[in-house]
Amino acid sequence: MGHYDKAEPPVRDARLIIGDSYSGRGCDVIDCARSGCLLSKGRRFWQANVCQMSLSLMMAATVDNCAIIMHAPIGCGATMAQLAPNAARGKARRGKQPSMPVWLSTNLTEIDVIGGGGSKLRETILYADREYHPEIIFVVATCAPNIIGDDIDEVIRSVEKNTEAIITALHCPGFKSRVVASAYDAFYHALLSRVPLEPIAYRDWRPVERADPDYAAKLRRFNSDKRSTVNIWNATSIGAGDEEEMARLLGAVGLRARIYAEYCSADELRMVSFGGLNVSMCNVHDDYILAYLHEKYNIPYIIKGMPLGFAGTREWLMEIADSFGVADRAASLIADEERRCREAIEPFLPLLAGKRVLIAGGVIRTGAEAVMLSELGLDVIGVRAYHYDTGADPVLADMADELPDVPLTVSNQPFELINQLKNLKPDIVISHNGTHAWIAKAGFVSVPLWDTERTFFGYTGVFSLVRRLAFALKNNSYPRRLSANAPLPYRKSWYARSFDAYITD
Ligand code: SF4
Repeated sequence: MGHYDKAEPPVRDARLIIGDSYSGRGCDVIDCARSGCLLSKGRRFWQANVCQMSLSLMMAATVDNCAIIMHAPIGCGATMAQLAPNAARGKARRGKQPSMPVWLSTNLTEIDVIGGGGSKLRETILYADREYHPEIIFVVATCAPNIIGDDIDEVIRSVEKNTEAIITALHCPGFKSRVVASAYDAFYHALLSRVPLEPIAYRDWRPVERADPDYAAKLRRFNSDKRSTVNIWNATSIGAGDEEEMARLLGAVGLRARIYAEYCSADELRMVSFGGLNVSMCNVHDDYILAYLHEKYNIPYIIKGMPLGFAGTREWLMEIADSFGVADRAASLIADEERRCREAIEPFLPLLAGKRVLIAGGVIRTGAEAVMLSELGLDVIGVRAYHYDTGADPVLADMADELPDVPLTVSNQPFELINQLKNLKPDIVISHNGTHAWIAKAGFVSVPLWDTERTFFGYTGVFSLVRRLAFALKNNSYPRRLSANAPLPYRKSWYARSFDAYITD
């Protein structure tokens, strides 16, 4: 089973080719990665970076009825103050009880770093189980216990016979990976290593009895239901509206969609192995678990980009429909949906035509969105991807085919973004959450690359984005006024230099 039977998952730095620093043509990045030059690139200066632990936590916090134990100094848990209410809001949007995850910290101190934090962890697990009765406890292994060598899995083994909760370790120390996408593998490894993914007979499903006079017919129906169930794998940036849109489209061709793994309970997770097909909605998110489910349960899987824009949605749907033999139904659905969507967006398109757009954020969304916006008549003047890994190659190759000359930067650095904005002067920016204040202070209009309260996928997503772009282009006084009154912290001399001046070969 390769990585899967190990206590800790490999980071992407060890499993794939990765990159966090690049500036060049989009069509050259794959060659640069394969020739090894991307790995040697870095920066002489970093303004800030992200820790993979925060993304693993972001996923774990959504799991229904879970408790999170930060095995860490107290500061590592600071991000839970924001993640917990977000998770509750996401549950409410999916019709679930909007409960916040319980989270505790072992609050490692200097003394623990010298003497070991194992006994504190043991006590905290028992306390969480006794006081909060969670179904799943995630023990988050951060930098400090990894550096001092606390054996977290051994602590879990020693207490699990005395707890009702399933306990699993999230191995995600920030220092181990250059790319935060390692966080997704860490979360999935925590699920597949200890959380049951098989349903229990007579509790989760009712087997067909051999003595039943309709045995053959019922068995056929059962197998057909199982085969036509599509497990769709979500991500924290994918909102309930996106999930509903893709389930709607699959339902229209006779397929039943179940959404995993965020916002699921232990009961729902047990049904994972009763799916006929696993489908990802983001190339760099789920390959780790989908390959595992294929190996373990022989469930085929599809990783075919993001269902963003006309081309992205068409390819995503057709690939699934093909594998179920319903390609004709899907083709006629797509033709009808595209026609209706194009009619709906037509009044807005003259406002967008030729507008110069810079796109920044996750590598798959930015690449897919560049192709989509170009198709809608905008002029894509640059793409900034937060990281590169091999999983992104199909989307980057599509982008290279459609927009061979578009400049690509692999960067999550605000100082480079601001420099690029000041020099490129785009009409509009589409950017990752957390960057809009910077962009507004620089005087530019922006709309979010994703927002879990809105729909981005499928045809509803195209319509929604087009309307928001048109609205933002017309209503531009906020960034104009803010930039006149809220200065940025950079010297003028920084804008005279190239934005990629600190990227090294
Ligand atoms: S980098 Fe390490 S110490 Fe810092 S927040 Fe992440 S896990 Fe905690």
